[in-house]
Amino acid sequence: MPRSLSPGECPLCGTEAKVTDYDEKFTRWVECATCGNFAINVEAEQAVTPESKPLLSAYTRRFFRRADPPILITSSSIGEFVRVLPRYTPPEKLDDLLIQLCRMSPSEFGKPTGFDLKKDYPLVIMSGPAEVHSYLAELRNPNRGYVTIHDPPIVTIEGWRRFEEIGQEGKRSNRAFVAMWFHTSTDEVYEKAIEPAIREAGYEPLRIDKHEHVNRIDDEIIAQVKRSRFMVADFTGQRHGVYFEAGMMQGLGRNVFWICPKKDLEQLHFDVRQFNFIDYESTKQAKDRLYYRIMALEGEGPSANPKETSTAGV
Ligand SMILES: [Zn+2]
Repeated sequence: MPRSLSPGECPLCGTEAKVTDYDEKFTRWVECATCGNFAINVEAEQAVTPESKPLLSAYTRRFFRRADPPILITSSSIGEFVRVLPRYTPPEKLDDLLIQLCRMSPSEFGKPTGFDLKKDYPLVIMSGPAEVHSYLAELRNPNRGYVTIHDPPIVTIEGWRRFEEIGQEGKRSNRAFVAMWFHTSTDEVYEKAIEPAIREAGYEPLRIDKHEHVNRIDDEIIAQVKRSRFMVADFTGQRHGVYFEAGMMQGLGRNVFWICPKKDLEQLHFDVRQFNFIDYESTKQAKDRLYYRIMALEGEGPSANPKETSTAGV
C-alpha cells in the first residue's frame, strides 16, 4: 500500500520523523530514524506515558526490519510490548553497549563506531542519549579503557578484548541451545522453523543429538546449556529430557522459548502450562513466531550481518 509521508513528529521519541495522515481506523504510519517504522493508533498515542515511550522505541527499533505485517501499536498492545523487553542490570547494559559499539564499528581498527548516540539508544534499550553518555563514561573509565573519548568513540584493543570475552560468557554468547526430541517426526520443524528462525535472528543453534539423553543428566548437556545464551524447547513427543533442560535453563535465569504443536498443547505437563507457549499449526507459523519472539526478547544476535544493523532505521 503506498504511503504518503510528510515531515512530522515521532509520537514515541519526539524527534523529526516522517508520518502519514490518520486512516479510517485512526491509525497512522511513522518512519523514524530512532524508533524504526511502525503504525500507531490515536488511542495508543494518548495512552503512552513518559516511562513507556523509550521502551516502545526499543521494541519497535529492535523489531521493525522484519516485521510483517508491520508493528501496530494499539492501547492494548503497549503492555505486551513493554513486558516482553528484557530488563538488564547496569553491568549487563554496559556490556550490551560495548557489544553494540563493536558491532557497528568498521572492520578497520581505529575507526569510529557507526553507533549514533542520538538515534541508536533504543538498540541497547536505554531511555535516551543521556543514559548512553553515562555508560560511555564507564566504558572510558581508565580502569576499563574500552573506548576513546572521541565522539563517536573508537573501540580500543582493550575494548575488543572485552568484546571477545563477553562472547565467551554464556549469557552473552551467540549460542542457542535447542532442546527437543530428535526423531524423524521432528526433523521438519527443526529444519524449516527452529534452525532458520535462530539463524536469521543472528544466533547459532546448538543441538546435541549424538546420543539419546532422555532421563539422563549428562555432563556435556549441562555444560552446553550453561554456555548458551537462550534455549528453544520444543515439546513435540513430551520428552522428559526437554522438560529437564528447559528447567535447568530457567534456573540460570535465561530465556526459554517454549514451543509446541497446537494439537499437543493439552498434553503438556501441568507445571509448564503457565508459560507463554508458541503454539503452531505449520512450520511457517512456528518459524515466524519464534523469530519475532527471539528478536523481541534477545535482540539481534552477534552473527547477524552487521552492515544491516548499522543502517537499520535510516
Ligand atoms: Zn521516534
